[in-house]
Amino acid sequence: MKNNEKLGARPETQGEYEKLFTDEDIDRLFGEIESYYIDPEKCQSCGICARKCPVDAITGTKKSPYIIDQDKCIKCGTCLESCPPRFSAINKHLSRLFD
Ligand code: SF4
Ligand code: SF4
Repeated sequence: MKNNEKLGARPETQGEYEKLFTDEDIDRLFGEIESYYIDPEKCQSCGICARKCPVDAITGTKKSPYIIDQDKCIKCGTCLESCPPRFSAINKHLSRLFD
């Protein structure tokens, strides 16, 4: 099950909750922050990711690689899933918030 599906679930008991999230999952969710970037060398300026982004954080033109405004991005991951596999232009980076 993907993280966004797990986060949307409404477990009613401690046991159901523990089946959804391990201690490692909790540590990762609260200890890491995701960022999404478009590789300008791979981007084909098709605009699919920009049309799917729920907060209009992606801009670009047919003649230049698209870019993600990190201040607007809500880290939903939709763009990563929507970029056609033959381009695979979007990368996810994980940064530790604290050690
Ligand atoms: S992760 Fe979500 S909010 Fe951020 S740029 Fe991609 S689609 Fe938009
Ligand atoms: S979907 Fe991929 S190739 Fe198309 S504009 Fe977005 S990053 Fe570029």
